[in-house]
Amino acid sequence: MATAVVEPRIRGFICTTAHPAGCASNVNAQIQVARAARSDRTNGTAPLRVLVIGASTGYGLAARIAAGAMYGAGTVGVFFERESSGTRCGTPGFYNTAAYHRYAMESGLVSANVNGDAYSHEIKRKTVELVASRLGQVDLVVYSLASPKRTDPDTGETYQSVLSPIGETYVGKTIDLNREVINEVTVEPASDEGIRGTVGVMGGDDLRQWSEALLDAGLLADGARIVPFSYIGPALTWPIYRSGTIGRAKEHLEGTTKAIDGQLRSSIGGRAMVSVNKAVITQASAAIPVVPLYISLLYRIMREHGLHEDPIHQMVRLFNDHIGPGRTPALDGEDRIRLDDLELGDAVQREIDSVWPTITTENFRALTDYDAYKRGFRQLFGFEVDSVAYDEPVELEAEI
Ligand code: NAD
Repeated sequence: MATAVVEPRIRGFICTTAHPAGCASNVNAQIQVARAARSDRTNGTAPLRVLVIGASTGYGLAARIAAGAMYGAGTVGVFFERESSGTRCGTPGFYNTAAYHRYAMESGLVSANVNGDAYSHEIKRKTVELVASRLGQVDLVVYSLASPKRTDPDTGETYQSVLSPIGETYVGKTIDLNREVINEVTVEPASDEGIRGTVGVMGGDDLRQWSEALLDAGLLADGARIVPFSYIGPALTWPIYRSGTIGRAKEHLEGTTKAIDGQLRSSIGGRAMVSVNKAVITQASAAIPVVPLYISLLYRIMREHGLHEDPIHQMVRLFNDHIGPGRTPALDGEDRIRLDDLELGDAVQREIDSVWPTITTENFRALTDYDAYKRGFRQLFGFEVDSVAYDEPVELEAEI
């Protein structure tokens, strides 16, 4: 047992501490959203068995919560998080997982966790063993990894991702999260090495290895689905996102998913399809230039239009409308689920286009929901969560 008062230590888009009670409270709030979304259609269906790769924060955590709280799913979660040690707190994903695990145990749901490098053979092997022993097979695999680097276990090569444009220098508006001023950011085009590195990390190679490992072990149930996540966004962010290195990696991921789809259809009558999600506040998105300011504006406009969605609302919609038991996914011309439909709606994007050029250091708090962005970012680490007693010592150890 080790208790301490935990304070936020934030620098730009990094926070090096996490509050266990705040993280637990966030997870419980998501569980409430998912439970409220249960309907007659979700009752009475056979319990789902779900593997979530990248299950501890952001979209993967929300997918796990939606599966468990809406469908009583048994889940195996894979993630890479630091556990607490002595008086040093763990990472938010460690505390989020502990909170989900507690909920699952109280609700009689299977919950098993693998903490380690999902890109490695060792962690794939451990996961395969755990899925076999705890779930038998899986009906759904959600793939939600976001990482700056990956070592290919077959070649030993380490890839490093970069967030750069391709071909041309990008000059655009961004917010300096340390000084809270609007800056012009200049990002030089990526080298071939940078493009290759980003595709090596965030492209489809690891997903293919997971799919093969699960198929080889006979762990994908008849009709099972594999769903990785992607992002497209509006033209405003294309130079740095969709047309940049990360977009190149996402195209590779989407292409790989199509190939896996062919394999699953012929082998187990299953499907693989990308879900294109909306921009949300996560640790991964905070690191991308331009995106925090875009999200600050997007959140204000979507709230005003009554369209606000956090990861849990997106994942509820993913299950309810597309991949829950008995649902038929609605796909676009590229066989993708589009949960970014509301973000990319004409009215929302017209307003973004008209406001974006007018944003300055003097007016960004009035024109965007930056304060909500900042709070949302701190909440990722369990801070600024209502009804948490931050001045009291809190237990740092937790069980996953
Ligand atoms: P996130 O940073 O919140 O979560 C990343 C997850 O990956 C965590 O569970 C982390 O533990 C895990 N992880 C990272 N490296 C790992 C490793 N080596 N081994 C095991 N686990 C590892 O990220 P997110 O924003 O939720 O992104 C998840 C996916 O959703 C990504 O594919 C991202 O591109 C996509 N997406 C994100 C957004 C957005 O706005 N955040 C929008 C659309 C799509």
